Amino acid sequence: RRLDSRSSAAGLLGDIQTHIQTDPLDSLYEITGELGRGKFAVVKRCVEKATGKVFAAKFLKKRRRGRDCRAEVVHEMAVLEASRNNPRVVNLHAAYETDHDIVLLLEYAAGGEIFDLCVSDELLPEGQITRLIRQTLEGVHLMHQIGVVHLDLKPQNILLTSLNPLGDIKLVDFGLARRLGTAGELREILGTPEYVAPEILNYEPITTATDLWSVGVITYMLVTGESPFAGDDKQETFLNVSQVNVDYSRESFSMVSELAVDFIRKLLVKAPEDRPSAADCMTHPWLWQHYPGFDPLPSTPRTPRERSGGCKWAAPPEDQEDK
Ligand code: ADP
Ligand code: MG
Repeated sequence: RRLDSRSSAAGLLGDIQTHIQTDPLDSLYEITGELGRGKFAVVKRCVEKATGKVFAAKFLKKRRRGRDCRAEVVHEMAVLEASRNNPRVVNLHAAYETDHDIVLLLEYAAGGEIFDLCVSDELLPEGQITRLIRQTLEGVHLMHQIGVVHLDLKPQNILLTSLNPLGDIKLVDFGLARRLGTAGELREILGTPEYVAPEILNYEPITTATDLWSVGVITYMLVTGESPFAGDDKQETFLNVSQVNVDYSRESFSMVSELAVDFIRKLLVKAPEDRPSAADCMTHPWLWQHYPGFDPLPSTPRTPRERSGGCKWAAPPEDQEDK
């Protein structure tokens, strides 16, 4: 009981529908290799024997640093379940429990991480990048609509359904995601400094704007192939982020369009309240320059109120009358 209320105060989701199966995983699935690993998880490629279908099996440790972390794992499952209708989030197929792990069987994203596109010798044309960013914003918008912030958006947590031809994006890794309006234990939910917003470094409250900062960082990386705030050490990175130390006149921007720079500039803004929302972003001309007459946010019809509600692209904050 006490654990429940503590978890929910920390912004964790506690309700899951998916039954956690206890029969051995390897009777139904064959593990065929490793896809990635983080601090507390290993993700393995996994084939369902009966169907030949490929899944990604995320093995999450039940105990971390000697502490029972089942609530965190259940939370990650709950966020995936709450995102069932979000086409930009990987689907949760099943869950298993072993002695040390809970294993999430996830829809397999065969194209790997967007990270590889950021560090490749040949950068994507902007026409392709805008499509990936639109899909990312759609996914983020739908998460924000159900009152959940991701808080760990980075090129390693945005995957592709295929690489050649370039497929659609899928968001993964909801370990740091939190319900909106909860303070959370921010010391614990600190993501990688390179990608986190200044307010997170200052332990300020969580808002949806934190994810939009990350979209700015990811866009920067896709168009330049460089990480905007990465310093020689953690200290320097922290400083670069908190001073919003970005130089748009760098050599790496020589081939980047004015509209792309404008898009990034409006997201990499220190004050969270001055950043556009995901829905605002969808109306930025950079995202639509190759698609004249296209309707922004095609899969989520917006109410008239949302349409008229202060679009941050119209004018810089100081020029807005209703501030
Ligand atoms: P962590 O919490 O350890 O960062 P992630 O959920 O981000 O765990 O998974 C780690 C890595 O495993 C990802 O960055 C990605 O490379 C790979 N991965 C995760 N989920 C999938 C998936 N559904 N399909 C393909 N690869 C995946
Ligand atoms: Mg990850």
